Amino acid sequence: MELSKRQEIIMEIVKSDGPITGEQIADRLNLTRATLRPDMAILTMSGLLEARPRVGYFYSGKSPARVLGDKLHKIKVAEIKSVPVVVPEQCTVYDAVVTMFIEDVGSLFVVKERGFLEGVLSRKDMLKITLGGQDIQKLPVGVVMTRMPNVITITPDESVWSAAQKIITHEIDALPVVSPVGKHNGESENDLEGFEIVGKVSKTNITRLFVELGEGKD
Ligand code: ADP
Repeated sequence: MELSKRQEIIMEIVKSDGPITGEQIADRLNLTRATLRPDMAILTMSGLLEARPRVGYFYSGKSPARVLGDKLHKIKVAEIKSVPVVVPEQCTVYDAVVTMFIEDVGSLFVVKERGFLEGVLSRKDMLKITLGGQDIQKLPVGVVMTRMPNVITITPDESVWSAAQKIITHEIDALPVVSPVGKHNGESENDLEGFEIVGKVSKTNITRLFVELGEGKD
């Protein structure tokens, strides 16, 4: 986040003399409180300053980088996820390629009966199989996809930082956002019936968030 000259001066005043009231800051700068209000709002909303009633403004002690880091840990996958494109396990490689073009996506999720996650298909998975000279009009995607339990997933309540970290660590483009479904109440691991796919997080979602944060959007 880039601060204006005036916001930088306010930061200096609060750092050295905080807690300090809005009125005192305005006096120092020979400005009215009303003029300062937008600056104070930006500095508190961004987390650089904190405000307490009857005490005034004080420095949060967080660098702008730390503030951004905190934000990335706070924003949940649920807030940035997009609609997943899924194909059934029996789908042919040919149809999967067509789906990628029609839906304009780079990754497809493969589902078994009841819509549970079974695999992931990437562009290179498709390219690789064409090298083998196989008949992709007959070949089912199950042969080329990355299959459960090797699929890296994320849940809606995990942070976007966590999603980005998984994408980088595993060198993949997208993660299925899943919700575990249990046989009984899902309390033990053995109760797990499958993962319902509730969304998708890709490099594009993360990049879009990055652009929005850069524009100063909350
Ligand atoms: P590309 O094919 O464009 O390089 P990816 O980097 O996403 O796309 O895929 C690389 C490999 O990782 C592929 O074999 C793909 O099946 C697999 N893959 C993709 N997404 C996941 C995921 N979420 N979990 C596990 N493997 C994945």
